[in-house]
Amino acid sequence: MKVVEKFVSINGEGTRAGELAVFIRFKGCNLRCSYCDTMWANEADCDDTEMSPEEIHSYIKSTGVKNVTLTGGEPLLQKEMNTLLEVLLSDKNLRVEIETNGAMDLEPFTGEYRPVFTMDYKLPGSGQENAMKESNFAILGKEDTVKFVSGSKEDLDRAKEIIEKHDLLRRTHVYFSPVFGSIEPVEIVAFLMENCMNDARLQIQMHKVIWDPEERGV
Ligand code: SF4
Repeated sequence: MKVVEKFVSINGEGTRAGELAVFIRFKGCNLRCSYCDTMWANEADCDDTEMSPEEIHSYIKSTGVKNVTLTGGEPLLQKEMNTLLEVLLSDKNLRVEIETNGAMDLEPFTGEYRPVFTMDYKLPGSGQENAMKESNFAILGKEDTVKFVSGSKEDLDRAKEIIEKHDLLRRTHVYFSPVFGSIEPVEIVAFLMENCMNDARLQIQMHKVIWDPEERGV
């Protein structure tokens, strides 16, 4: 498996935001979002380390951290992902979450060794909405999260349409996250209030507040 970064930090997003997590960042992505802050990890010439699922598990255990975040790039592009999930989820001391971009079919990863999914739905401002697989919404449940990274009023309005169409607030966690530098968080709060959007949450990317927004490995 092609790993470009591995490190311990805090989870910046999702239901375990603020808790320690060990991150495994995989190389490559099938999208090109306008606001991507990890594009370097998607380039063909980015340095990577080839690691087997067992080696990744050993590294995770060496950290002593329980929360595991598999990220990218797009982690579900890795051919051995199901093997890795089996290895990690057979270890009952670990809690495994996958951050995925909404363009991958989740169904092949919903067997006995199913992780928690934090799935993006890419809004118009990303330039990638056409790649979204709406069929994935039927797979998400109470443990999972849909994240709408929003950079404009148009994005917010589209997110509302998708939330209502798929009844997401009742079925899973729903987070709004601002595109850093494009929209003020207060605009998202106003949107949530205007639409009385109970159960949806604003989430600021903590890493961008705690560290330099360009910092890697945090
Ligand atoms: S899906 Fe994520 S990693 Fe891929 S281009 Fe978009 S923001 Fe970047």
